Amino acid sequence: MSFGEADSVDQSGMDGVLAGRLEDFRAAGLERRLHVADGPQGTRVVRDGRELVNFSSNDYLGLAAHPALIEAALIESRRSGFGSGASRLVSGTMRAHAELEVAIAAFKRTPAALAFSSGSAAAAGTVPALCGGGDVVILDKLSHACLVDAARACGADIRVFPHNDCGRLESHLKWAREKRPGANILVIAEAVYSMDGDTCPLDEIVALKERHGAWLLLDEAHATGVIGQGGRGLAHDWGLGERVEIRMGTLGKAVGAHGGFIAGSAVLRDYLIHRARSFVFSTAPPPPLAAAAIKGIELLQSPEGDERRRALWDNLRTMAAVLGVSAPASAILPVVLGSESSAVEASQRLLEGGVLVPAIRYPTVPKGGARLRITLSANHTREEIEKLGKIDFMPRAGMVEDAP
Ligand SMILES: *Cc1c(COP(=O)(O)O)cnc(C)c1O
Repeated sequence: MSFGEADSVDQSGMDGVLAGRLEDFRAAGLERRLHVADGPQGTRVVRDGRELVNFSSNDYLGLAAHPALIEAALIESRRSGFGSGASRLVSGTMRAHAELEVAIAAFKRTPAALAFSSGSAAAAGTVPALCGGGDVVILDKLSHACLVDAARACGADIRVFPHNDCGRLESHLKWAREKRPGANILVIAEAVYSMDGDTCPLDEIVALKERHGAWLLLDEAHATGVIGQGGRGLAHDWGLGERVEIRMGTLGKAVGAHGGFIAGSAVLRDYLIHRARSFVFSTAPPPPLAAAAIKGIELLQSPEGDERRRALWDNLRTMAAVLGVSAPASAILPVVLGSESSAVEASQRLLEGGVLVPAIRYPTVPKGGARLRITLSANHTREEIEKLGKIDFMPRAGMVEDAP
């Protein structure tokens, strides 16, 4: 239902209550709509019959519509069917799932890995499996919503440190050790932050969690495929892989497929099989998805993967030059505008110019931190990137409510 139809609802029932709330969202510049794209994901999307240059996808290496992934899924469909029919612990563990987990572990250079139906499901299952009442979870302020929700759901005491502030992380660790002597302490950080595109100071975080006997969950959703040799991620790139207990990731971004994973020790995997509720109580993902993910992971580590990463980083440098900003640390380039309305206006102007860049607003980012989030792909052409530079999309003076 659209907002325009709100008048036709029964004002006394649930829809009446919800329509009122939707009106509030709209008044606050927080209206959301789904737009249907025709055709595969790529650097061009067709929306409402119009072709747009797409700077909004997390398909960083252009694998989402890669013929090899499509072929792998088709072959696996013919071999194993589509649905898995049951949860992994019942009869849903099929050959492709087992092979995917071997492939993830080999890729991440960990002894073992466990696949989940999504990255969000990996977070939702893993954090509450590891920590509960009496334990302490310490998160970066900019952690992804799925990690925040998982921390809240587990019943542990939660401490949040300002983004990348290791001083505050350390004071939380000291507090936890002193006040909860026998507790498990879990630190949660992301290799690349999804809305800011910056990396975490992983070396300092690892040193701190070791000094205070805590565990570290590192979410490599936006680093996997993009950062380091073979796209293995930040932990491997910095030589810290063996010191991070829990490496989380998604198969739905640079890998080009769908699903999530936890990579780590064999004991961790075995434990999660027993205790991660999103794993235990959910139907196994379709085997063709696992087959496509295996192919994506294989491509990431191949010469073609190296070539695509090189093209992506070239594109990122070109885009940074076009925007007049410094070289980015990841495939995500945020342009923070502040007010919700200025971000929406800038996004609208880009759309009019034929370029799709989403306005990211509360609750995805803090109120007043609205921004454009530009993401690049290896497949973008120089012309496509320069097209963005030719559009006058920044709000006119006075439009940015909190400008100096
Ligand atoms: C996308 C994302 C996830 C969730 O992964 P899905 O597979 O999309 O559920 C988790 N963490 C971060 C940082 C993400 O950006």
